[in-house]
Amino acid sequence: MEECLFCKIIRKEIPADIVYEDENIIAFKDIQPAAPIHILVIPKKHISSINEIESKDEALIGYIYTKIKEIAKMQGVNETGYRVIVNCGKDAGQEVMHLHFHLLAGKKLGEKIVD
Ligand code: AMP
Ligand code: ZN
Repeated sequence: MEECLFCKIIRKEIPADIVYEDENIIAFKDIQPAAPIHILVIPKKHISSINEIESKDEALIGYIYTKIKEIAKMQGVNETGYRVIVNCGKDAGQEVMHLHFHLLAGKKLGEKIVD
């Protein structure tokens, strides 16, 4: 059984504030929000990071972006704007080794995405 934190959220072994779920993905509120709206969108398939994406995952990755667009609309920020961030590895500060897309919105976000 996968020990990964986000796999446990997928299996409902750890609670999360889920805003969207289907057979391929789950989206839930980040426990330490960096913006008024901070949602993590993750594939149900365990992929550790961008580095582990395989060519057979290409449709899934495209699907995630289509759903991010829909989740942004559900959250009412598709017009005002939002930022999508994926950290990969140590220098990017990736803490959870299950691919996840940060959806950030609800305020004017900083112009610098790197400090
Ligand atoms: P990253 O630094 O890109 O790996 O992002 C991991 C994110 O997961 C951080 O923003 C954390 O606040 C968030 N996080 C960690 N544990 C949980 C949890 N149990 N529920 C929701 N978000 C979490
Ligand atoms: Zn996982």
